[in-house]
Amino acid sequence: MLKVALSHDVDRINKHYQYFTYFLKNLLKADFKKVKYHFSSFFKEEPYWNFPEIIKIEESFNVKSTFFILDESIPFNLFDKNNWQLSIGRYHLFNEKLVEIIKWLDKNGWEIGVHGSYNSFNNKELLNKEKKRIESIVEHEIIGTRQHYLNWNQNTWNIQKEIGFKYDSTWGHTTTFGTKEDKITPFKPFNDYFLEIPLIVMDTPFISSENKWDRFLELLDLIEQNDGILVVNWHQRVFREEEFPEYRTFYIKIIEECKKRNAHFATLGEFYNKIISNQL
Ligand SMILES: [Zn+2]
Repeated sequence: MLKVALSHDVDRINKHYQYFTYFLKNLLKADFKKVKYHFSSFFKEEPYWNFPEIIKIEESFNVKSTFFILDESIPFNLFDKNNWQLSIGRYHLFNEKLVEIIKWLDKNGWEIGVHGSYNSFNNKELLNKEKKRIESIVEHEIIGTRQHYLNWNQNTWNIQKEIGFKYDSTWGHTTTFGTKEDKITPFKPFNDYFLEIPLIVMDTPFISSENKWDRFLELLDLIEQNDGILVVNWHQRVFREEEFPEYRTFYIKIIEECKKRNAHFATLGEFYNKIISNQL
């Protein structure tokens, strides 16, 4: 049976400097439709807050997902352009609205995981601090993680395991979709309870691919035949079509296709528990 785990990395919850940069970028390209959108969206409701929309979509299919929450703390560095979107774009974990939705999701069958911050893949204290802070909101242990930007090195699994995570879902591609090094099923890096559940399809690499739907259907066949898990990551902020054309449509299309194949949907944490207790 085809198995599917839906997930959402929560990189951003507010649009702020993007109003200005996207406005300017499209103005320079003379794309006035987009210029108008980014200008007017400033006065409308927050376009990067899509939890209600995601919940609505998933409830309509009777499926639940995992939300990976980021607690980024990287300091602003004026002289490093790459730092800007990490530092200026970040949100505060204890934002009242966010705390409320995290608690609601956790209590209603969705899973909360940790989205390890940009530098935490190689910093045990930092990742541990983030885990504890996010756990203080849900008031119980969190077992799963995925690193921001899919940052990973040989030390990352050690760090994650040492501070008490039971599974990671960072193993995947950032520029294309499909399996990384042909790893299609969850695997045990230490031959014990710690599991890597590979990320198979991420939003932007998928949306920007040629022949994406045909390639996706082939991938589904492969996963079904090899008893893998289709792990999907659609970022929380990408569900407004005006801002991210096709993203919401394809998220729904993917769920519909999997439902057509009678797929078994569960959160990553639920799959973890089943795999470890040999029920899968
Ligand atoms: Zn991220």
